[in-house]
Amino acid sequence: MSDLRLDATQLDRYSRHVIMDEIGPEGQKRLLEGSVLVVGAGGLGSPAIQYLAAAGIGRLGIVDDDAVERSNLQRQIVHGDADVGRPKVESAADYVATLNPDVDVETYETRLTAANVADLVDDHDVVLDASDNFATRYLLNDHCVLTGTPLSHGAIYRFEGQITTFTNDRSSADGDGDGDDTSGAGESPCYRCLFPEAPEPGTVPDCATTGVLGVLPGTVGCIQATEVVKYLLGNGELLEGRLLMYDAMDMSFETVEYRANPACPVCGDEPEIESVEDVAYEGTCEISAD
Ligand SMILES: [Zn+2]
Repeated sequence: MSDLRLDATQLDRYSRHVIMDEIGPEGQKRLLEGSVLVVGAGGLGSPAIQYLAAAGIGRLGIVDDDAVERSNLQRQIVHGDADVGRPKVESAADYVATLNPDVDVETYETRLTAANVADLVDDHDVVLDASDNFATRYLLNDHCVLTGTPLSHGAIYRFEGQITTFTNDRSSADGDGDGDDTSGAGESPCYRCLFPEAPEPGTVPDCATTGVLGVLPGTVGCIQATEVVKYLLGNGELLEGRLLMYDAMDMSFETVEYRANPACPVCGDEPEIESVEDVAYEGTCEISAD
């Protein structure tokens, strides 16, 4: 912990955090010293970016290669009507700058690829996957497993959402020696343990094809932001080894437990994937035969 001190304005801004024993000034400092990479500034990324910025995450990286379209505005609430046609990363960065001057925003107007994933991810504490495609999900998973980077996963489909957290902590403790370990003893399943294979390209329709309830990604993205804040605080029970499934029509939440797969190609006992170069992410996410 550095000697970063909360100034009077910060004590005011974060007072509802600071007064709680579970956070306090120390916890708020952790958030201000924290860095999060949000991949996707769309439906899930919008509420995540808003709440992470409001919480005072000190450094927020935002990756997206899209421009704002009018049909996004029904759910991608970090963007406004005047932003149509602008890069999403710019519009999101403007929002954060208006909300909280404590947050340094880094924008990356690019698509995440095997070639740039290390440069984008590696100097951040946590990654929040707010992407909308399997290539990005598997790529982020594999890189985060290989580098031990915690990853929050969220996905939505029509009226349903799912959220889980991969701490990618393969030791029995979180390593900072403060006794607040939130993970299970040495077990940290990954996205491939949960979903071993990506569906064939084109078989899973996207929001543009099937529609999505506009408020749904708000709920899911907020839960992801909650997990990231808890991780940085080192407090609470994460959705590690638990998949939270939300059905907006039934208004039901269900949690399903899952375990690490010893045969997992990236985090198992004999991993086939030793580098993100081993996988054809843009195709079927298959591991190449060599
Ligand atoms: Zn795995």
